[in-house]
Amino acid sequence: MFSQQIIDWYKLHKRDLPWRNSTDPYKIWLSEIMLQQTRVDQGLGYYLKFIDHYSTVHDLAGATEQQVLNDWQGLGYYSRARNLHATAKHISEQLNGVFPSTYNELLKLKGVGPYTAAAIASFAFNEPKALVDGNVYRVLARYFNIALPIDSTQGKKEFQELADSLIDSKNPATYNQAIMEFGALQCVPANPDCENCVLRDNCQAYSNKTVASRPVKEKKTKVRTRYFYYFIAQEGEFICLKTRTESDIWQHLFEFPLVEKDNQLSDSELIHYCKQQFQQTPVLISPEQKHLLSHQRIMARFIHLSKIPQEWQSLKIKMDAIENHPLPRLIERYYLKIIERKQLIFFEMD
Ligand code: SF4
Repeated sequence: MFSQQIIDWYKLHKRDLPWRNSTDPYKIWLSEIMLQQTRVDQGLGYYLKFIDHYSTVHDLAGATEQQVLNDWQGLGYYSRARNLHATAKHISEQLNGVFPSTYNELLKLKGVGPYTAAAIASFAFNEPKALVDGNVYRVLARYFNIALPIDSTQGKKEFQELADSLIDSKNPATYNQAIMEFGALQCVPANPDCENCVLRDNCQAYSNKTVASRPVKEKKTKVRTRYFYYFIAQEGEFICLKTRTESDIWQHLFEFPLVEKDNQLSDSELIHYCKQQFQQTPVLISPEQKHLLSHQRIMARFIHLSKIPQEWQSLKIKMDAIENHPLPRLIERYYLKIIERKQLIFFEMD
């Protein structure tokens, strides 16, 4: 009953998304990796770009990591792009370009967890594996009025068991697509339109008036604040750029030389720092820019220097070569403003 109602709803309301018309595991894998933590409207353009640039897994494997990161730029969570590239190489070189065809084999691929393995196994190979993403948790928690926290070990186990018991074994791909789409379009996180919902008559959260409090989560996400001070050292047509090598956010992406502090520095402290470290006074210091990641709040300021310090001479590149380097979104946005103004001047970002 539940499964059939969801599938019937899906047939009437589904969005026409390019990866849905395919059973090619490469395209499904690409779309699933891209859509993790990303909205469909944001991921769609990237998906089309990747299919255009790398139409097969061999094409993706043959690209350099820097090319892949460049194409990924702006999508965030860059470890996904690095894993994508490493896995493409593995499939192209070790498996002759043939994707594993079962859930258990897919799970062995780098960057492929239970959710992505179930997505590829069901969409490409029709294996009856239930998908449980944020949308599915929400629909099940509400329809069955389950108060068990979805981020607890017991909760994850029981929700997966429930999802497995509901899957339509004749149509696993359609059922999985349908319940996720139902969560994305109908049973949305805030203020779902329950009055016009096909599941309303049997929805336990609706009849118990608990829709707003389902699903339950036990842990609050801790957000860490970091203070980044970027130095834009520019002399003539040269500017300094370096790679992030640490095991941290934005690994292998490029950025201006950075000093990170545990606390906020004032203008006078920054001027003092520049005089001490670089024997010069900054030309300009930007206002603080807030950049939010899922577990981090980056507070960044950009300090403009008119001379390249001796210790950064090896980091010099021509300004117009910046575009060939994958940059974190924070840096890219600031740099685009510089280009717009055609000079390095103080400004506030939107
Ligand atoms: S009635 Fe409301 S809470 Fe229940 S499934 Fe429909 S949209 Fe979700």
